[in-house]
Amino acid sequence: MTNLVDVLVVGAGPVGLNLALALNKSGVQCRIIDSKAEPSKTSNAIGVNARTLEIWKSMGFVDTAIAHGLKLNQVKLFSGSKLLNHAEFDSVESEFNFMLSLPQAQTEKLLIDELVKYNTHVEWNTKLTDLKDTNESVNITLNSDSKESHITAKWVVGCDGYHSKVRELAGFTQECHDLTQHFIMMDAKLSGNISRSDVSIVFNGAGVMVFIPMKDNVRVMAEISNDPKFKDLKSGNLDIFTKILNERHPGVVIDSVDWLSDFSIHECLASNFRNGHVFLAGDSAHSHSPAGAQGMNTGIQDSWNLAWKLAHVIKNEATDSLLDTYNTERRGIANDVIKRSGGITKVATTNNKFIQLLRNLGVGGILSIDLIRNKIVNSLQQTDICYENSLLINTDQVLYQNQTKFQNIGSKWFLLTKDEIPNPDLPDFIEIVRNPVYWSDQPLCLIRPDGYIAMYADSLFEISGYLVENGINPA
Ligand SMILES: Cc1cc2nc3c(=O)[nH]c(=O)nc-3n(C[C@H](O)[C@H](O)[C@H](O)COP(=O)(O)OP(=O)(O)OC[C@H]3O[C@@H](n4cnc5c(N)ncnc54)[C@H](O)[C@@H]3O)c2cc1C
Repeated sequence: MTNLVDVLVVGAGPVGLNLALALNKSGVQCRIIDSKAEPSKTSNAIGVNARTLEIWKSMGFVDTAIAHGLKLNQVKLFSGSKLLNHAEFDSVESEFNFMLSLPQAQTEKLLIDELVKYNTHVEWNTKLTDLKDTNESVNITLNSDSKESHITAKWVVGCDGYHSKVRELAGFTQECHDLTQHFIMMDAKLSGNISRSDVSIVFNGAGVMVFIPMKDNVRVMAEISNDPKFKDLKSGNLDIFTKILNERHPGVVIDSVDWLSDFSIHECLASNFRNGHVFLAGDSAHSHSPAGAQGMNTGIQDSWNLAWKLAHVIKNEATDSLLDTYNTERRGIANDVIKRSGGITKVATTNNKFIQLLRNLGVGGILSIDLIRNKIVNSLQQTDICYENSLLINTDQVLYQNQTKFQNIGSKWFLLTKDEIPNPDLPDFIEIVRNPVYWSDQPLCLIRPDGYIAMYADSLFEISGYLVENGINPA
């Protein structure tokens, strides 16, 4: 194993694995380590949203992912047994107009299987214990089976989760605050009054319950901090869940329990996602409530945003300044996710009777308005993200170009044109596409490797100006 590497990915959770795969697809080899002895076995994150599926389509394995998961069509909101409203996913602006339910362990396995095709193997049982950024590269100490080794990486990405050692050692600061809500959860085989194709959210005076079907069982989460009978519990078991179900959502029978767990909510955001040669992605950079199933999805998008930028810089196709746009584009998104998921959690779990009444009336009314319902659904599916304030996006046309029309091959850009361009003087990484479906008056449209529209232009001169301004294809 080489001791000098372009990128060291620390952590083989979904974010680190997705990053390692995206780097490989961009022609950059990396090492990926994890302190665990083996891949995860638990289901943790199960909601895979449309934006992640678009990314996986670009990476070429979305069909396999969908085949392993279960398509969920809508979210139904109840007050006790009364249906308040429902929000269907068919208004999602993506070919993937559903939520894929796929246990995190399977997501990780799919990513590991893809990585192996690039001859990249996760180094399990390998922990990062120290790092020092020398301003040119990063010196790293690893520990494996109590043996120390030292390597140097040009770039390190900490995908090492909520307790990130990379974040601590590289001197990142973060702001955190804890929510008071505590949830117990189980994955179980259920029968009776339970949907196999919808997410069900059941508001109840004693606490909210959420049911998310998976292919083989159902994820059940119950908030217990406001329930006098259960509030001091840390975890649940079959008896406790049976009692809670009988009280809050009768008619559901637990046939068998596959996994029991619990969680509290910490909201944290790193003050920057880049410090010199070190980056943070995923839970190491941001953590928040699982409401809306945003955590893993947001982290996967971090990795997608960072991979092509790193690839360009490593191949000397862009200056270092391109890497600063990772923080400017992704940190704001993470901040919005924290606010949104925290807001949903507070409203869903309130024990104030008046706010509960307003919430239930609001859900009944607001979600019936197509415009509002579609906005909420697209926001949760993250199909509305377009980095409109980024220097790398030179268009106020916030239309998100569904990137899956262009099969991404690593860090390749696409220049869409109505007409043939004779002798274009463009870098090799820009592929010209005579686009049959064109949607602008301007004749040229530049698409970034991650599928977002960079700009519309009237001439190649404008395209070159954009590249120079952003340190891409430096002389
Ligand atoms: C109950 C629950 C439900 C959730 N549901 C959803 C959902 O439906 N959708 C969604 O998008 N998100 C969901 N999430 C959030 C999601 O699980 C996380 O956001 C996601 O796991 C973050 O991935 P990650 O790769 O950043 O970090 P992790 O998954 O935490 O992986 C970090 C990895 O780094 C390794 N590591 C740590 N320190 C070191 C070190 N020093 N050296 C080497 N390796 C190290 C760890 O062993 C670990 O494998 C849920 C979370 C919970 C708790």
